[in-house]
Amino acid sequence: MKKNILLVEDEKSIRDMIKFSLFNSDINLIETENVIQAQNAIAHKKPDLILLDWMLPGKDGVEFAKDLRANKKNANIPIIMLTAKSEEQDKIHGFSVGIDDYVVKPFSPRELIARIHAVLRRSGHIDKTILKAGDLEINSESHKVSYAGKKFAIGPLEYKLLYFFMSHTERVFSRDQLLDQVWGADVFIDERTVDVHIRRLRKTLSEFKSDGLIQTVRGSGYIFSTGNDSCE
Ligand code: CA
Repeated sequence: MKKNILLVEDEKSIRDMIKFSLFNSDINLIETENVIQAQNAIAHKKPDLILLDWMLPGKDGVEFAKDLRANKKNANIPIIMLTAKSEEQDKIHGFSVGIDDYVVKPFSPRELIARIHAVLRRSGHIDKTILKAGDLEINSESHKVSYAGKKFAIGPLEYKLLYFFMSHTERVFSRDQLLDQVWGADVFIDERTVDVHIRRLRKTLSEFKSDGLIQTVRGSGYIFSTGNDSCE
């Protein structure tokens, strides 16, 4: 079934780019230019997800996200925030109002679609128990990892790392961000620890010729990339 996604974006060029990116996908896009239009659209039909621009005329995206979260009826609609690069340092603020993910402009259509699917999956709109990347499969209920249906053993940290990557595909994470997300924000661990566990994970995945899924981005960190849109 088609997913209804509500877009709130005042710049026409970006609306057009998103509309074009989602053309022929399993997503039905509802376009709005500001918070008032978005509120009317939500009152008419509750969307499966909201793509919300940060800087909007009138009420801005963060304020609108807060309103949505405060309203019982709409509190569970997943939100992906669209931000400009200069706003990225404010992302913590965005997460604290309960957004599910954010995409930094300019973004690629592939990245946007991967994020939409990942958020829909995490929010339960798509089965989130099993994540797949090609023949690689991870089951968050049984904590089992398999390749082409064959289960294999993996260390607990490598499991957490792999699960994090597979639920956040096509996105670069710094060592620092990985430490925060996988190990926990309040632990004091050397960033090189991340490299150690990435190496172990790659070694395991190399048995299935899948170590290339985790790529090093020089000077930035790591990305889990399938190289296509097959990560569902
Ligand atoms: Ca804007």
